[in-house]
Amino acid sequence: MLVNMKTLLQDAKKNQYGIPAANAWNESTVKAAIATAEAQRSPLILALYPAMADILEFGAIAIPHASRAQVPVVVHLDHGQEFADAVKAVRAGFTSLMVDRSTCPFEQNVAEVREIVKIAHTLDMSVEAELGHVGKGSEYHRTKNDGLTDPGEAERFVAATGIDCLAVAVGTSHGMYAGTPEIHFDLLARLNQVVPVPLVLHGCSGTGDDNLQKAIQYGITKLNLYTDLDQAGYAVLDQFFIQGKAANMLQAEAAMTAGYAAKLGYYMELFGSQQRV
Ligand SMILES: [Zn+2]
Repeated sequence: MLVNMKTLLQDAKKNQYGIPAANAWNESTVKAAIATAEAQRSPLILALYPAMADILEFGAIAIPHASRAQVPVVVHLDHGQEFADAVKAVRAGFTSLMVDRSTCPFEQNVAEVREIVKIAHTLDMSVEAELGHVGKGSEYHRTKNDGLTDPGEAERFVAATGIDCLAVAVGTSHGMYAGTPEIHFDLLARLNQVVPVPLVLHGCSGTGDDNLQKAIQYGITKLNLYTDLDQAGYAVLDQFFIQGKAANMLQAEAAMTAGYAAKLGYYMELFGSQQRV
């Protein structure tokens, strides 16, 4: 069934497990992610990054599949950076969106997020925003300690905006890490104490199973995944080529999607979201 993120994340927070937010961008990734969630009896967040597909076209594909799913599925806009992205997500029928103004000054971030929250909550959509800034893995060696979320600001930000969940910067990074991930668990613990809404971790790929499980114990409820799923799919395809098995596009696509789905299922077990619904 199609749901927003609010109750899912509140349950995850209460019972200390994590829900994977899988980037999906076409019908095969949508179907593979939903089938995996159904097999695992796990809730699922399908997240569209706007550069990966047209928001309206993705909604037309993802929403009917999510509605028919036997487990709760959120259709969520990942990193909505333009006002137009949020409007399109509303029109397409998404149930959740992220308003990413994390590179703006604090007051501007608050003002722009609050405006979208007003619209979204009218339509029972959940809203995620980011404070501090999760950067790029390719720059990790020099930027890893930049933009960490300040607990005092986070507390004020959540109260001022009315968001449903907060993405925090505690040492993870988007894409592949140049260097070893160093997660600031003391900061995460402090954030979890002062922020009343569920916490979200971006850049989970490559962060390591132990770090991710520990992050869940420290209050993370939503874990964003793209690179690890993508690379798992690509690795299966690569094996197919080596073994000479992929003879056409359909076989190649099925192989990639199977790798993507297997990795997602692996993370559902790791995060403890299986057998929850
Ligand atoms: Zn992100």
